[in-house]
Amino acid sequence: MERPRGPRTPDGAVAPADAGTVVVIEDDAHIADLVALYLRRDGFRVVQVGDGVRGLEHARHQQPRLVIVDVGLPGALDGFEVCRRLRREGTVPVIMLTARDDEVDRVLGLELGADDYVTKPFSPRELTARVHAILRRSAPSDGAPPDVSRVGGVTVDRARREARTADGVVPLATREFDLLAYLAANQGLALSRSQIIEAVWGADWYGDERTVDVHVRQLRKKLGSALPLDTVWGVGYRLG
Ligand code: CA
Repeated sequence: MERPRGPRTPDGAVAPADAGTVVVIEDDAHIADLVALYLRRDGFRVVQVGDGVRGLEHARHQQPRLVIVDVGLPGALDGFEVCRRLRREGTVPVIMLTARDDEVDRVLGLELGADDYVTKPFSPRELTARVHAILRRSAPSDGAPPDVSRVGGVTVDRARREARTADGVVPLATREFDLLAYLAANQGLALSRSQIIEAVWGADWYGDERTVDVHVRQLRKKLGSALPLDTVWGVGYRLG
């Protein structure tokens, strides 16, 4: 039997589950590295890019949950232009890094419409707090209390440890509920079996990854078509 392994921090603590991708477009390597360090610590996959042209490419192709863009970038596209194009093409949240207070009006203005900004020098903690705030705001459970989320026709209530559909409360075993809650907290992300095992069963759990499949089968049986749970071939599962 294989023991599932996840990323580990140097002190041996298990890194948090994959919170999705953030693209960081910043030419100052010192700032970019620091920002990336803090985001990775919070479980994000970070793509660092030093100019606007490549930054826009990565923002288009890596399906990030959020993009952080420095206003002052070398090359053909500055941060303003990157933000303008991202806005025109989609809804990915954007946080701008500004060097001067007088850039702020423009950054938040109608033309650019960034979701938020931080002015240099900033603390990485402040930036990650803003990242989390924006992701909470843009989450599908918007408006609901934080421990209740809705996916398809299923309401996942973490406080009550209940799953509800139009037909009422659906009784789930403990691990089934834990699995559903984890999938719901990571809506839209393809999660590997080993990621799921580590988050739901714990890093010290010895056993087979097929355990995940067995529990998924139970969830599908009990929640039926209310549960928009896809099998991602070669990876694992994705909810919503
Ligand atoms: Ca810069």
